Amino acid sequence: MTDRADQSAPRALPADLLAILVCPIDKAPVSQDGDALVCPRCGRRYPIDDGIPNMVVETE
Ligand SMILES: [Zn+2]
Repeated sequence: MTDRADQSAPRALPADLLAILVCPIDKAPVSQDGDALVCPRCGRRYPIDDGIPNMVVETE
């Protein structure tokens, strides 16, 4: 069994995971754009790191 990661194509998140993800700032549902999640409300982009959304927000 081979396990070759195709790094040229962004992986889509499972729909059920995407459905529960919200922007930590304003709780708006985010949508996937390539290899990032985008919040339509505040415009923030959250990178998807190896299939795992990084939604950590730097706060004061
Ligand atoms: Zn937001």
